[in-house]
Amino acid sequence: MSGPEEPPGDARAPRGTPRDGTSSAGADNEQTTGRTPFGSAMAQGAHMTTPGPGVMPGLEPPTAPGAAEQRGTSAAGLAPAGITLGGEALQRQLDSFLARHEEELTLFRRDLHMHPELGYAEHRTTQRIVERLTAAGLRPQVLPRGTGLFCDIGPEDGPTVALRADIDALPLQDEKDVPYRSTVPGVAHSCGHDVHTTMVVGAGLFLAQQAAAGLLPGRVRLLFQPAEETPGGALDVMAAGGICGVDRVFALHCDPRIEVGQLGLRTGPITAACDKVYVKVTGPGGHTARPHLTADLVYALAKIVTELPAALSRRVDPRSSLSLVWGRVSAGSVANAIPDDGIAEGTVRCLDDEAWHRAPEMMKALLQSVAAAYDVEASLEYVRGVPPTVNEATSVQMFRDASAEVLGEEAAVPTPQSLGGEDFGWYLESIPGALARLGVRTPGSATEYDLHRGDFDVDESCIGVGIRVMAATALTALWDGFRGLESSPGGSDSNRESGERDIASRSS
Ligand SMILES: [Zn+2]
Ligand SMILES: [Zn+2]
Repeated sequence: MSGPEEPPGDARAPRGTPRDGTSSAGADNEQTTGRTPFGSAMAQGAHMTTPGPGVMPGLEPPTAPGAAEQRGTSAAGLAPAGITLGGEALQRQLDSFLARHEEELTLFRRDLHMHPELGYAEHRTTQRIVERLTAAGLRPQVLPRGTGLFCDIGPEDGPTVALRADIDALPLQDEKDVPYRSTVPGVAHSCGHDVHTTMVVGAGLFLAQQAAAGLLPGRVRLLFQPAEETPGGALDVMAAGGICGVDRVFALHCDPRIEVGQLGLRTGPITAACDKVYVKVTGPGGHTARPHLTADLVYALAKIVTELPAALSRRVDPRSSLSLVWGRVSAGSVANAIPDDGIAEGTVRCLDDEAWHRAPEMMKALLQSVAAAYDVEASLEYVRGVPPTVNEATSVQMFRDASAEVLGEEAAVPTPQSLGGEDFGWYLESIPGALARLGVRTPGSATEYDLHRGDFDVDESCIGVGIRVMAATALTALWDGFRGLESSPGGSDSNRESGERDIASRSS
């Protein structure tokens, strides 16, 4: 036998899963559910601060004295150190797994595609995932709000790696003419989250087989996150202890500009931050004949609208590409009266994590200085969207190594930073990890698809590709973490990697 086939006679209940598949997240939940780290609405204004070097306060992994030594010796019983992915053996195992499951998983994706659900309403989707994982002998755990879940695979006494999928759809009409088009008017999986979900389910089923065969040197946590588009589901996962004890987290996102079979990689920021700002200006108001006896509010507002973006461009490193662009400005109702209030609303986009953290305080100070010059009162409401997703160098290398192993040396291609937002960035504020772009475009196809369009679709052979990449990346990261525990007993691998992430994000 070339590898760990599913146990005969009980294909859906891998050996060892009663213990190995038991989620430890329940205990983590008790430690962290009382805390909402950023608030569900994320309207934190200018009070948000950097959550420390690599670890979000309150979400530190539980570490007992000597835990690393225990983990090292126990995991050492699984397989000798130095064994990596298994090369051709892993390929054969993945081939065999996909030969048996690819069709079923493609139908799983189509079922989700036909029944898309918006953020925090993913009840049916959650149920489908729970059913499939439970049928394989796993024990998924639904998040407190009722949608989204996580599920642990493998022994708890080694490193832990998370694979994250987002499960929500978009408020768009499905314009495709395919048998699996959306059956819900005005809702469609136009961002490929049905594909992400299916790939993590598939990778999870494969890794459960590996765990049953004693080939997993640690734990894999499948994270099925609700409400990425809303956004903010990542914060619910974190509040529920979803990344507690996780050393690294990985995610794939469909990219219709990359051909299927390829993987787009980038170290450092890969998506952008997008926040909203609301400025309110007030003054006494009065006759336009006597602006010197009141405060000329419209003039002051115009100064704020032009000066704030200009001053920011001279206060922030231009490489951060921080930009404030107004979308709405409003004041006054008649030509000869100075109004007593006015507003300006806009968005802040930013490619750099450090500048993003500094933006609210800086903007608040600049606003006050401009307003003071014209004797008006000004207030700023700063609403956080998502941070930039800053890929950690070591995690990107793990993606690269894994894709070379299971897709070939040429599969990894460079990908640019997108100005779009992605709430995966929240996880990477706390732990190292990476998001890669999965090619979903049929090679040679003349059709130009894009995300967030009613006609978006994928070449479904990307599902098998994504499962290979996710499974191989998880194994790469587990073996790396396992060796880290062995070489530095008692040392904290995740702290070491957090330091590397800091260096990587600053130098890129
Ligand atoms: Zn999207
Ligand atoms: Zn998306």
